[in-house]
Amino acid sequence: MDFSYTAEQEKFREELRAFLEKTSAEVFGTGAEGLGQSTASLLDVRDDARWRQLLAYHRKLYEAGYIALHWPKEWGGGGAGLVEQAIYQDEVLRLGLPLYGANQLAIDRIGPTIMLMGTEAQKRRFLKPMLTGEEIWCQGYSEPNAGSDLAGLQTRAVLEGDSFVVNGQKVWTSLAHRAHFQVLLVRTDPSAPKHKGISYLLVDMKTPGITVKPLVKITGHAGFNEVFYDNVVVPRENLVGELNKGWEVSVAMLMFQRMSAGPRQPIERILNQLIELSKEVEFGGVPAHRHPYVRQTLIRFASDAQCVSLARYRALSAHLKGKPPGPESSFGKLFASELNLRMTMFAAEMLGAYAAIENDRPNRANRDLWVRRLLNAREYTIAGGTSEIQHNIIGERVLHLPKG
Ligand SMILES: Cc1cc2nc3c(=O)[nH]c(=O)nc-3n(C[C@H](O)[C@H](O)[C@H](O)COP(=O)(O)OP(=O)(O)OC[C@H]3O[C@@H](n4cnc5c(N)ncnc54)[C@H](O)[C@@H]3O)c2cc1C
Repeated sequence: MDFSYTAEQEKFREELRAFLEKTSAEVFGTGAEGLGQSTASLLDVRDDARWRQLLAYHRKLYEAGYIALHWPKEWGGGGAGLVEQAIYQDEVLRLGLPLYGANQLAIDRIGPTIMLMGTEAQKRRFLKPMLTGEEIWCQGYSEPNAGSDLAGLQTRAVLEGDSFVVNGQKVWTSLAHRAHFQVLLVRTDPSAPKHKGISYLLVDMKTPGITVKPLVKITGHAGFNEVFYDNVVVPRENLVGELNKGWEVSVAMLMFQRMSAGPRQPIERILNQLIELSKEVEFGGVPAHRHPYVRQTLIRFASDAQCVSLARYRALSAHLKGKPPGPESSFGKLFASELNLRMTMFAAEMLGAYAAIENDRPNRANRDLWVRRLLNAREYTIAGGTSEIQHNIIGERVLHLPKG
């Protein structure tokens, strides 16, 4: 395979890199608080000023035509080929920026699902404001007793004339406190087998009867929420796909979600920071980067990081051949989130007792950054389906192993 780029592609990279460096520095600043944050912690922000920065950054990405290179031109995307998309991911991840501005969920999974399965009216109504950032979206799937076993969900919607009336509760809903709209999985036929009585709705978060309550994570941030529905009226025209056939729609969306979950981890950037850290701290009585165990571990991470990049290119290339993302997208999600966790745990190992210290003062080796990263890293192995569930999917649907 030839991994070299044409002059035109190199020009695209150069212009994009200049744009990203200038724009992100202008919007976020250049210190550890500016670009040093991992992707998801930018999305985590409950702080209003930080959120406004993210919206401003989103708008600039949109105006420059970079916000959704992978969407077709017909719906306002870039209609870009494989190489341009790969270059975009490389450059954004190099700087540790969010791939899709402030509207990650809309652009990586909800918009593509509406394009695949929504009505023409839904496409015309909802897609453009996703790109501009005027309408932020969240995803109401998980419930207190339905996470890995998503099809066990109990939030109920009853069709009354031209509207559904929704009652129930969702949990762990990222961005619900910022979102204007939500995709909501509801049970519309309680008498049917559990995968068959579900429907997929698009819900305006301002509808009377919706209450959003923040949940605080171990990091101290409250990026996700409980959401309660008390006789919430949703117009029937906001049903995606057929009534009681929402499971198919939700699975399509989960595949788009997992396809983007691997690329979301700025693995190479974290690896480079880990190498820098090894030059700053001691391990076993010698500078860490001279210790054979540290060197071996870093080399292993470097080759794993290369696998993540190649898996990312493979997923992009399958997508461009027109294939909807399949169960193999679980591989990128699983491998990247577990590698991210292993790398942050190794940083803590190198830092030793310092790994437990957190304060606001900038310090050598960015020790606070690693504390936050370590606390954040576990969540990526849970969100979008846990690592155990990804193993099950790969075992059963990719490798066709017998069920245990
Ligand atoms: C940061 C973050 C953001 C999130 N954002 C959203 C969001 O925006 N919208 C949304 O709807 N949800 C969201 N979630 C919820 C997420 O999808 C669920 O947490 C996840 O699917 C797991 O479900 P659960 O928490 O109910 O755990 P459970 O399903 O109760 O699982 C508990 C444990 O049992 C294991 N387990 C369960 N079933 C099996 C099995 N069959 N085989 C092997 N092991 C199994 C799991 O791997 C896990 O270790 C988010 C979660 C996190 C951490």
